[in-house]
Amino acid sequence: MSEADDKKAEIDRALSALCESFPARFLGAETEQALRDENAKILGKKGELSAILKELGRVAPEARKAIGEAANAVKAKVEAGFEARLRELAMRKRDAELNARPFDLTLPARVPLPRGHRHPISIVREELVQIFRSMGFAVFDGPDIDTEENNFGKLGYPPDHPATDMQDTFYTDKGHLLRSHTSNIQIRAMSTMKPPFAFIAPGTVFRRDDDMTHSPMFHQLEAFLVDEHVTLAHLRGVLSEFAARLFGDGTPVRLRPSYFPFVEPGAEVDLGCPFCKDEKTGKRLGCGVCKHTGFIEIMGCGMIHPTVFEACGIDPEKYSGFALGLGLERTAMVRYGIPNLRMMFENDPRFLSQF
Ligand SMILES: [Zn+2]
Repeated sequence: MSEADDKKAEIDRALSALCESFPARFLGAETEQALRDENAKILGKKGELSAILKELGRVAPEARKAIGEAANAVKAKVEAGFEARLRELAMRKRDAELNARPFDLTLPARVPLPRGHRHPISIVREELVQIFRSMGFAVFDGPDIDTEENNFGKLGYPPDHPATDMQDTFYTDKGHLLRSHTSNIQIRAMSTMKPPFAFIAPGTVFRRDDDMTHSPMFHQLEAFLVDEHVTLAHLRGVLSEFAARLFGDGTPVRLRPSYFPFVEPGAEVDLGCPFCKDEKTGKRLGCGVCKHTGFIEIMGCGMIHPTVFEACGIDPEKYSGFALGLGLERTAMVRYGIPNLRMMFENDPRFLSQF
């Protein structure tokens, strides 16, 4: 026998040996990874089959085709064996899972999940809305971006008037801006509705201020009422009722004359401080919240200016009305003794979890 024939016989034997040994080797693999490793040892680039076929060059050329076919047959058997064992292992794993102790979805979590709650501004807003609704005011909504005309013009701010500097805001384009107060809603209501009506307008407003007590974004709530023969006495009555519902019966209300372009007369409203009230005498003794004055500045108000009525198409000879507005952040700060307005926008759970 020639050397080439010897080589052919050697390769045939090696292929047969491989063919006989692989089923036991696959069966011995107890995990998917072990099975894949074993498969790679046989069929991988540097595996046993490749090693056997490296000798093919030393076989007589006419015998090579037969060896190639035999090798392919072995390879196909190994691949089929691998797939079968893979399915078997997967089935076994699945059975083990099904037979294991059942997974109880109804068990409570080991760590109690913390419950979320409303933000202090939301709490205050809902409380204020509730108070005004119970007095007959309905909620009216309006857009955050409005025309300069609705935000300033119709409220009696002449173009480029220095008063607009107090609330210089963010313009999106010429003639449109982020509203600097919720009074744009008052304008929209008065321009489209026929009196009598009483509305509240809670919403987000935008200015350029940014310091300890000011934020470029904050929240206001505005209330306004229009009818025939509405006087300052009606405004005073609503304020007294509001004070009683917010801080308790008999809370004193104090009006201090002040300037707002869209009301005449205008006033700042102070409410008796609820934090230093002596329960026996009802006197306010003074505390840090009220800066030892016994009163807390809470809002601005006034009788709607006749020029505002005219701008909205309401006859100021026939109708009159009042408007009042307050900041929700300011109200929350007073209510909860929060020293820094920006804490309300930092979303620190240590702060928010206290409400
Ligand atoms: Zn006080």
